[in-house]
Amino acid sequence: MVIKNEITEVMEMKIGLIGLGIMGKPMAKNIIKGGYSDLMVNDLNKASVEELVELGAIAGTNAEIGSSCDLVMTMLPNSPHVKAVMLGENGVANYMKAGQVFIDMSSINPVASKEIAAELEKKGVEMLDAPVSGGEPKAIDGTLSIMVGGKQNVFDKYKPLLETMGASVVRCGEIGAGNTTKLANQIIVACNIQALAEALTLAQKAGVDPQLVFEAIRGGLAGSTVMNAKAPMMIAGNDKPGFKIDLHIKDLNNALDCAHTVGALVPMTAGVQEIFQYLHHSGHGQDDHSAIAKYYENLTGIRIGRPSLVPNP
Ligand code: NAD
Repeated sequence: MVIKNEITEVMEMKIGLIGLGIMGKPMAKNIIKGGYSDLMVNDLNKASVEELVELGAIAGTNAEIGSSCDLVMTMLPNSPHVKAVMLGENGVANYMKAGQVFIDMSSINPVASKEIAAELEKKGVEMLDAPVSGGEPKAIDGTLSIMVGGKQNVFDKYKPLLETMGASVVRCGEIGAGNTTKLANQIIVACNIQALAEALTLAQKAGVDPQLVFEAIRGGLAGSTVMNAKAPMMIAGNDKPGFKIDLHIKDLNNALDCAHTVGALVPMTAGVQEIFQYLHHSGHGQDDHSAIAKYYENLTGIRIGRPSLVPNP
């Protein structure tokens, strides 16, 4: 349980955040809105840094963040980026000392989370892995789902801060458990999207309107958040990201790597990953992951919800 003076201590701490992309920038804004005004930020994109400086944040280098912030946070693309920023030459960890804390909110390989935590532990620095789900809209309105790994007492202390960015903040276990949970989430989303594209292709090819199929089944057992978000996109042929195929490939690579490391079998993940690879190599890597429909459309010669590429036999 967090007692009142611990909350005050957390509110007054100096926070450093590295990574102000699609997700990190709105998350930084919500940290400030939540009353944590002592925020130092860094990103390769100086326009994003400037945007936060205008809201009261201070721009800082890795060295300044490591040496002056009580809490260091990252929201970077993948494991190599987090490792380089924290443990690389001139990395943040070089400047950190015992008592400081690191929270990584990127979606990375849980094996890497454990490796980073082990290095930081040598310096007496505690770590939480706290990846998020919900995408840019929920990052903006501060209603992300945040899944956390790490020690209970560290989680309890920083939960109020994480709640400035998320509607749900759940500790899933020890370090790495947050990213393991995120991988489970990404496997379910990917397989769901594939099944949806396959089913709507079947409907179109058989001459049944995919829109009516969607309306008829969305309230039944097959209905899902994925179906509600992605069926309209597939039917309209709208590939504007949301969540890019290349980022999903990154997550599924981490899922495959983690599964092979721990000895789990993930044949569905391997299958959908190969389809995403095909789409990446056909120039769709920057499209929304619902563009998986393109794979089925190209195989069958139809367009979901639209006139066929070739006349139906
Ligand atoms: P992004 O590419 O928009 O942002 C990453 C940011 O990191 C960029 O601004 C980049 O300039 C910065 N960066 C990279 N290397 C850096 C370095 N060495 N030093 C400083 N800055 C550096 O990515 P994003 O969409 O914000 O995703 C971030 C993480 O969140 C990823 O792990 C992603 O999988 C995860 N995520 C994304 C979404 C989504 O819908 N976009 C949803 C949930 C989780």
